[in-house]
Amino acid sequence: MRPLTYSRATDIDHALVLAAATPRSAFLAGGTTEVDLIRAGISPSEHLVDINDLPLAGVEDRADGGLHIGALARMSDVARTPGVVERYPAVSRALLLSASEQLRNMASIGGNLRQRTRCPYLRDGVSPCNKRDPGSGCAALDGFNRGHAILGTSPQCIATHPSDVAVVLVAFDAVVRTLGPAGPRSLPIDDFFLLPGATPEVEHPIAHDELITGVDVPGNPIARRSVYLKVRDRESYEFALVSVAAALAVHDGEVADVRLALGGVGTKPWRAHRAEAALVGRPADEASFRRAAAVELEGAVVGEHNAFKVELAQRAVVRALVASRDGRQS
Ligand code: SF4
Repeated sequence: MRPLTYSRATDIDHALVLAAATPRSAFLAGGTTEVDLIRAGISPSEHLVDINDLPLAGVEDRADGGLHIGALARMSDVARTPGVVERYPAVSRALLLSASEQLRNMASIGGNLRQRTRCPYLRDGVSPCNKRDPGSGCAALDGFNRGHAILGTSPQCIATHPSDVAVVLVAFDAVVRTLGPAGPRSLPIDDFFLLPGATPEVEHPIAHDELITGVDVPGNPIARRSVYLKVRDRESYEFALVSVAAALAVHDGEVADVRLALGGVGTKPWRAHRAEAALVGRPADEASFRRAAAVELEGAVVGEHNAFKVELAQRAVVRALVASRDGRQS
């Protein structure tokens, strides 16, 4: 058994000092991810800095009509905040379709963004896994890869990112705010999630003692029509096989603006830039939606068991865009 120490920060500066003092420290919020990883022997943490007393749990309106979501805001609280429900229904929907009620009551937004893949080969502690033991190989490449990614993969890792709400935040160009020894930083959320490339063990461009303080979601009128569609093997407590965050603005029958991102298919929450570009100025009909989805999935790399995700993702994109166009959730 590996020794594990614990301290409780009284304010943000105290948290940073405590984290910096131990190279293998981690911040502890809801604990729904970190404690799991420690129990499974996957987390390298030797010291936990409890940050639950820090004033980072608020959800506030921004002057531009957007939101600031504190890193310690619990998923269930964010999902039910009126400003989120009214202006970003896809954020609320994605949160409510995540995990279980008990987990949503504990899990924080900051922790949600830092959660690690559910790839079973990472979590079994013994299979070759470049994320756990760099250079050891990837058991999923020739293993059972039905749930694995088809976009953004590398020969070193094909694991999917598991978050639902991150898919919506990527679609709306959220910004992750951090504070570390070098001061505050603002990271576009698309840059916060790294592709696996040759270093799948590096998942975010932040240091272990850099604290996520919150997420800014810019104001965007079409977000009021945003949809989150999640396709999974069972209707509760399950990760997405495919998910879609979509929002559409239509003028004179043509797509004037669109936001589109995919979950369950990418090694990171996947902003569908190519599909968005293919949609603007096109008729807002199912034929255009289908063509755009196909453009995005052109680069898919499939394994033995997950080729079905290519078609499933395209159908889900069409369904989500139709729902946003028609003003309903799905
Ligand atoms: Fe590890 Fe990634 Fe391969 Fe899963 S897909 S075994 S997380 S390297």
